[in-house]
Amino acid sequence: MSVATMHELAPGIFVRRHSELDLNCGLVIGSKRVLVIDTRSTADRGTQLAAAVRELTPLEQVVVNTHAHYDHCFGNVAFRDSQIYGHVLAAESLQRTAEHQRSQVVEHLTRTDRPELAQTYLDTEVVLPFYLVEEDTPIDLGDRTAYLLFGGRAHTDHDLVVAVPDAGVVFWGDLIEQGADPAMEDSFPFEWGSTVATLSEHPLVRDASVHVPGHGEAVDAAFVQQQQQALSALATELEAALATGVQGVDGLIGKTRGLGFQDETLREAAVRALETRPGATGSQPAI
Ligand SMILES: [Zn+2]
Repeated sequence: MSVATMHELAPGIFVRRHSELDLNCGLVIGSKRVLVIDTRSTADRGTQLAAAVRELTPLEQVVVNTHAHYDHCFGNVAFRDSQIYGHVLAAESLQRTAEHQRSQVVEHLTRTDRPELAQTYLDTEVVLPFYLVEEDTPIDLGDRTAYLLFGGRAHTDHDLVVAVPDAGVVFWGDLIEQGADPAMEDSFPFEWGSTVATLSEHPLVRDASVHVPGHGEAVDAAFVQQQQQALSALATELEAALATGVQGVDGLIGKTRGLGFQDETLREAAVRALETRPGATGSQPAI
């Protein structure tokens, strides 16, 4: 049973926290519309989220998917009458990978004896974002504006960050993670740290004091900087290891310990480093 709690971070800005995967969804309420940031992982869960938003405000709901991982966007079907924003590559990625993502989750839930939950994934229609952006985009909510920002490749090749500068709040999607390591399996480990650094210097981000990760508790700017520095150090170590002829995933793991990441995280980073290094064939994202 998934449990959800709503927390007001600033006037009219909420994070809804969910026990599944410690997932965060965001709400930014203006005088005319409310922006919903990410939609959870199934039709049922998306429907519950939409109802929770309606308890707070009757305003028109506008949606953004921070990226195309199932836990952030399979609930889109519950918002299909809303404008759903995403990066153009998020729509492409979701179209290409949705059934693979679904089958992986269903296989995992079946193996761990949760067939009823698995069925809710099978029953969920995937709805793509259809207001597609490639660069920074303002979302007019009435008396306030939220901004969709694209800083470059990082957790995926299409992560959007949502800044609400009037309140000093930023929703980072999975570019920042609290309580667990950043998820590397579709990442660009040479670029992630510098993308976060670029975004942190953005005029709409640099004065923010409340930073909401895709999973875990809201954090401060110092936490973001610390994670950015660890990700940048990881890139530096991976580049140095490859430049000195270190080969193979295990070799790269051995050269990147000591940065605060779990070995499994380093393994995924090493795999992606080999896939995405300059000149590598197959440098496209897996998702
Ligand atoms: Zn993700």
